[in-house]
Amino acid sequence: MGMTIPASPIAPQVSLDTIERRLSETVWPSLESVCFHTFERTLNAFTRYKVGEEHFSSVTGYGHDDLGRQVTDAVFADALQAEAALVRLQFASGTHALSVALNGCLHHGHVMLSLTGHPYDTLEEVIGLRGDNPQSLVAKGVIYKETDCFATGEFSTHTVIKEKQLLASAQVLYIQRSRGYSLRPAMTIDQMERLIQAVRQVNPTAVILVDNCYGEFTDYNEPTAIGADLMAGSLIKNPGGGIVPAGGYIAGRSDLVEACASVLTCPGVGSKGGYTFELTRTLLQGLFLAPSTVKEALKGMSLAAAVFGEMNFEVTPAWQDTRSDVIQVIHLKTAKNLVQFCQQLQQVSPINSGVMPIPAVVPGYGDEVVMAGGTFIDGATLELSADGPVRPPYTVFLQGGLTYAHTRLAVQKLMDVVQ
Ligand SMILES: *Cc1c(COP(=O)(O)O)cnc(C)c1O
Repeated sequence: MGMTIPASPIAPQVSLDTIERRLSETVWPSLESVCFHTFERTLNAFTRYKVGEEHFSSVTGYGHDDLGRQVTDAVFADALQAEAALVRLQFASGTHALSVALNGCLHHGHVMLSLTGHPYDTLEEVIGLRGDNPQSLVAKGVIYKETDCFATGEFSTHTVIKEKQLLASAQVLYIQRSRGYSLRPAMTIDQMERLIQAVRQVNPTAVILVDNCYGEFTDYNEPTAIGADLMAGSLIKNPGGGIVPAGGYIAGRSDLVEACASVLTCPGVGSKGGYTFELTRTLLQGLFLAPSTVKEALKGMSLAAAVFGEMNFEVTPAWQDTRSDVIQVIHLKTAKNLVQFCQQLQQVSPINSGVMPIPAVVPGYGDEVVMAGGTFIDGATLELSADGPVRPPYTVFLQGGLTYAHTRLAVQKLMDVVQ
């Protein structure tokens, strides 16, 4: 009998070229189409407001009558299909923007109802679901409730009908678009539109507030174009285009945006004050780049889905699925795979490639977590990055990618370190 050839650690039939050809004939044209559409809308916002050199310098001190800040708000609002926007470097993070949005809409005795189950981890303390911070919404007399109209990953009218009374009692209906760190799929804009139409019939007046983090420019329309009243997100994710160094935004109905501005600054100042640190050029350029950068990230994530799917790892979304965020989930089966995946990714990162990620306990998580993030902007997850809790099924959350070339190269290397 002939010799047995030891099995290669990776399936030899997985060819990047073949997979790319398949993607370029199937899902990539739709990503290009979304990009052209959202880019055109963004460019139209720049021309409509006649953005000029004069908008790139900031008014110091109070920042009253800062034309750059005003035009930045207006251009972001148009690009994001909202009546108004509050784009501020003073938002410390996406969580801060969401916290301000919630505090701007909710008062003592009001009911906040999450329609997408338990919210993103960092919002637990904001709402008052963890810890005993006297500044949380619950400590200030807000009643928090949750239901999950999206438990199966498909919007269900059944839940809406079943929860009629609960829905009718709420002042704020909260929707999280992205999967975040959960295993449910991101909610597509089509699904969100059907959900909003259904809940509107039960409750015509509640503020519908969307956590839009990771979702911007992944689809033709934003939540505020399909019935949401308000949304918020981070500028070191999608709408910053990979170059904005900090900040967040809130966008939607002007009266609500102004109420939020009074929470961020104070009543009387609202959106009319605040220094922009000579950064309006970067804010606007980031927005200008965002539709294309998001498309590059989505192309890269679809490649990762196809490659690791082909290697028999469970992936979500699958390569052909419609995406509504820039996250790719891969179940890597073993702790060794997960750790080596993150270590290899770090090695092909532009910044801190010499750093060796090792699993460590992170406050708030039960298990050790391993993270790779060699990013220009610390913690920026529109840049190629990955993390995962070291526990079965050893799931890695891979996200971002400023250029497709970077993700392609990374995937090529990552294929060799997992088995
Ligand atoms: C990133 C993110 C947030 C906000 O997180 P920050 O790290 O504070 O910007 C909120 N919700 C979701 C779904 C997110 O992905």
